[in-house]
Amino acid sequence: MDKNYYDILGISETASQDEIKRAYRKMSRKYHPDLAGPEFEEKFKDVNNAFDVLSDPDKRRLYDQGVDPNQASAGFAGAQQFNNFGDIFSQFFGQGFTNAAPQEHMSRQQKGRDTLTNLTISLQEAAFGVQKTIEIQTYSLCPDCQGTGSQHNKKPIQCPDCQGTGYKQTIRHTLLGQIMSSAPCDRCQGYGTIIEDPCLQCQGQGRVKVKRKVSIKVPAGINDGMRVRLASQGEVGEGGGPAGDLYVNITVKPDKVFTRQNDDLHCWVKVPMAWAVLGHTLDINTFDGSQSIEINAGTQQEDVIVKKNLGMTRLNSDSRGDLYVHVQIEIPINLTTHQKELIEEFAQSRKETDNTDPISQESQPIKNKKSFFDRIKDALN
Ligand SMILES: [Zn+2]
Ligand SMILES: [Zn+2]
Repeated sequence: MDKNYYDILGISETASQDEIKRAYRKMSRKYHPDLAGPEFEEKFKDVNNAFDVLSDPDKRRLYDQGVDPNQASAGFAGAQQFNNFGDIFSQFFGQGFTNAAPQEHMSRQQKGRDTLTNLTISLQEAAFGVQKTIEIQTYSLCPDCQGTGSQHNKKPIQCPDCQGTGYKQTIRHTLLGQIMSSAPCDRCQGYGTIIEDPCLQCQGQGRVKVKRKVSIKVPAGINDGMRVRLASQGEVGEGGGPAGDLYVNITVKPDKVFTRQNDDLHCWVKVPMAWAVLGHTLDINTFDGSQSIEINAGTQQEDVIVKKNLGMTRLNSDSRGDLYVHVQIEIPINLTTHQKELIEEFAQSRKETDNTDPISQESQPIKNKKSFFDRIKDALN
């Protein structure tokens, strides 16, 4: 921080709120450009900045910790950039001082605001991209006057009350001297012009609130929570001014079958024990339709089969992630007598029935001999 607010007001760091107010009263009177001259404008701004921060206990605490809440770069979310010194000043000295400098009249055409809306799509739509039509309620150009605000397309005329300045100036004599002040013109609301025959549809605003359909192209590979920007599809501004942008918040619905992990998809299939033991070919659903996958003989619980390029499209690219099929093996239950006999016969042939020792005993869950990543590597090769 290059300026010390305490020094500017000429007070100590332990000053009370009363002392701060008194100091501000004194300093602002001393440096007000209307009294001290335009060369003191910077000084006057400093005084106001100092008061804005030190008179607010929250801002003062931050300032004492080395953060200037009036500097946008300080990243203080709650800080309102202080730009209308007149507001503070007039609290002390009345309205007369505000807007002392002559100002430009406002433009009739204002830029429209940005609009934010939401769109929910499926994971499959996110995988391949999708074209959607959404309906938004927003300001559009008035169809009757095409934004001019005039019923008969007449140009606005100069305001006779303020001669087109948009402001009315008054000079007052006070104890502090002669003070010139200006306020927006009542007749033209500060525009400097008036519309003689306001459009009936929009009351001279040049825009009307309507429901509008907007076509949006959601790019392939989009992630949940991303925003798509449609330039100039937001609100049309007052006086038919240029439209703001439309931002569409994308929500990707979770899928019942597939889970997304970055650009890859994962799914789980449950298969009979015999398929895992003997090997089997099966068909699974994918976003690209039915696909055949091969379960090798000796497949273990949670083994992974990788189908290349059946995952999500990578954003801004033509390439695709992969599909990981996790295999879960079902141990059969409710066996018939005959089936039990077959399993017992199988176990005896493996010499498993007489044994009392487990296959292994370890301090950690025993999955497979190979780690998950080894198995993925195997599956990829
Ligand atoms: Zn209109
Ligand atoms: Zn006027």
